[in-house]
Amino acid sequence: MTINESHQALNDTVIANGYCVGCGACAVPEESPFKIVMDDYGQYQSSLKDTNVFASTHIDYEKLCPFGSDAKNEDEIAKQVFSDTCEHNSQVGYYNGVFAGHVAEGEFRKRGSSGGMGTWVLNELLLKGLVDYVVHVKSESSGQDLNSIPFKYQVSETLEETQQGGKSRYYPIELSEALQSIRNNPGRYAVVGLPCFIKSVRLLQTQEPILAERIRYCVGLVCGHLKSAHYAESLAWQMGIPPQELEGIDFRIKDPSQPANRYSTYAKGSSGEKVVPTRQLFGADWGAGAFKYKACDFCDDVFAETADVVLGDAWLPEYVQDSYGTNVVVTRNQEIRQLIVNARTEGRLEMDDLGVEKAVQSQDAGLRHRKVAIGYRIHCEKASGSWVPNKRSGPATTLQPHYEMKRQRLRAELRELSHISFLRARRESKLSVYVDTVRPVYIHYSRQGRPFFRRLLSYLKRRLKATFPSTQQ
Ligand SMILES: Cc1cc2nc3c(=O)[nH]c(=O)nc-3n(C[C@H](O)[C@H](O)[C@H](O)COP(=O)(O)OP(=O)(O)OC[C@H]3O[C@@H](n4cnc5c(N)ncnc54)[C@H](O)[C@@H]3O)c2cc1C
Ligand code: SF4
Ligand code: SF4
Repeated sequence: MTINESHQALNDTVIANGYCVGCGACAVPEESPFKIVMDDYGQYQSSLKDTNVFASTHIDYEKLCPFGSDAKNEDEIAKQVFSDTCEHNSQVGYYNGVFAGHVAEGEFRKRGSSGGMGTWVLNELLLKGLVDYVVHVKSESSGQDLNSIPFKYQVSETLEETQQGGKSRYYPIELSEALQSIRNNPGRYAVVGLPCFIKSVRLLQTQEPILAERIRYCVGLVCGHLKSAHYAESLAWQMGIPPQELEGIDFRIKDPSQPANRYSTYAKGSSGEKVVPTRQLFGADWGAGAFKYKACDFCDDVFAETADVVLGDAWLPEYVQDSYGTNVVVTRNQEIRQLIVNARTEGRLEMDDLGVEKAVQSQDAGLRHRKVAIGYRIHCEKASGSWVPNKRSGPATTLQPHYEMKRQRLRAELRELSHISFLRARRESKLSVYVDTVRPVYIHYSRQGRPFFRRLLSYLKRRLKATFPSTQQ
């Protein structure tokens, strides 16, 4: 295949088979034949501008897509950048520092999802003159209401602008406009992103030298998976705000009376605002994976292995009780590690040395789903005759414990059903179309692996509630 056919190959493999995560990288090259569009399910997807297009660029599109057949994998990319200065762990990737803690200065922690390190690292790079701009995600109409949808990658250069980008946006975003802006505007940049987005940046840098020169730091976020825009709509609709009225959302409101993982959701509609504990909302069980991009089930990078530093939540018993949030932080870049160590000495950060095994433990469920069970998902996909992207692990015909195979199949079903049924619910203006379709599969899924007596207890509780509706649970 020639380079000029690579766009067609990317289209026929990654895009046609539903593995596009909508990162936007393939739309960045000048004269790219791709554009990024929002599909009916509320996901960004790449699409050929014209199906008969003949790309006249020097770009190899299969090498720049994180799921492309000829793209380097995370190990290969990271080895080139970090192997001289870091140790390696099979779950976390390379590391030269592993910490848990939070920002002690300013409003970073209060305005962040977790310990506030995401915004702090970006701001510190600006403050110390290591970059001129940061590229991060904030409300498109930032200014007054930081939670207004849609959320979008934007360029910031001051603390005030950077802080408008705090909080995790479980919402579709794409990088093409922001990266084009970097190409058009000289300067030194830091880019924050989910693992696959950072991988795209690294891959793009090998073909676009100007991006290699200007993007000095990649700041990664630990990632469970990405959600479609319908996830936000489904939560808000259950709070009484239908999709056409939804104006803004905050997925991570901290509740001072609860542990950090029991956060609430804030939604704003034309008729008012609501805050509801997230676990009371149907579809918010992160493990079940409603509204997940299919690509995420074929991705094995949890700790943004190609990023200079990665930030997540320290989901560990010793930290989770603190409602205000604690980060797990893995550094790979020596300058960023030093910024953190210096700020800790100055009392601006409260950071414990964590150790790599604890970092692994903090993402136990995510790592099991993404790095262990991926082999079984590849096997199922191949067995159905589908094209599957090259991954670091091969297909696995079995999974332990035995019920985990059923759970994986039900997760895939939940993912698909959530997209399809919510689209129908929107069209029919009836939330129940989504809930009534997905709930029976979710109940079936939740029962997998639970001992018989616990299932019996749940059944009896449900019967009791149905017979005496006022019974308090
Ligand atoms: C889709 C998604 C899935 C995640 N899954 C996990 C997980 O499974 N486990 C875990 O421990 N942590 C996960 N995280 C990370 C976690 O939610 C926090 O973002 C992280 O702990 C940093 O919090 P903070 O308080 O330090 O950062 P903050 O100060 O809140 O800053 C967050 C930074 O991330 C940027 N950002 C927000 N949303 C996005 C986005 N969608 N794409 C790119 N950049 C964005 C913001 O612009 C900001 O710069 C996920 C984040 C996202 C967006
Ligand atoms: S994952 Fe990114 S690079 Fe690959 S096809 Fe989709 S938008 Fe393009
Ligand atoms: S799970 Fe993987 S593919 Fe999905 S958003 Fe996260 S890093 Fe990207």
